[in-house]
Amino acid sequence: METAATPNGHGTALEDDRRRLWSAMGRGALHRCPACGRGALFRAYLKPAEACAACGEALFHQRADDAPPYVTIFVVGHLIVAAAVGVDLAYAWPLWLHAAVWAPLTVALSLGLLPVAKGALIGLQWALRMHGFGHGPEEAEVRPAVARVGAAAEARPTARHPF
Ligand SMILES: [Zn+2]
Repeated sequence: METAATPNGHGTALEDDRRRLWSAMGRGALHRCPACGRGALFRAYLKPAEACAACGEALFHQRADDAPPYVTIFVVGHLIVAAAVGVDLAYAWPLWLHAAVWAPLTVALSLGLLPVAKGALIGLQWALRMHGFGHGPEEAEVRPAVARVGAAAEARPTARHPF
């Protein structure tokens, strides 16, 4: 009955250890450290810092990979296409005017949104203790539990087929 109070790791990570998902994502979206909200998350445009300068939280664990461009394309695509279709239906712009307005707007929105999406996703990974962000005490609890399951699985055939 020693660790029965935390039957799954998710409740532990989000509630007991106080890594608030939305707070961490909001801090990341504002280019701030998801842990303290003070230090800079990026040391260059899209390059995360190795660690937070304010609280020392390691930030190199992030594995945002191609998720930020995916989110950016999804959001910007829906905004620009909706706006372009809406404007065309309402005002019937000539094609050159559409190209002159929407192309630079697409580039500007994408470049602006990319670090916001990447910061929010790093905040999400930090809050959910993904990719090495979780080095709290619950990791030590999980490993013996996995070992016990493995031992039980190995023991089962012998118990069911004693001969
Ligand atoms: Zn920090």
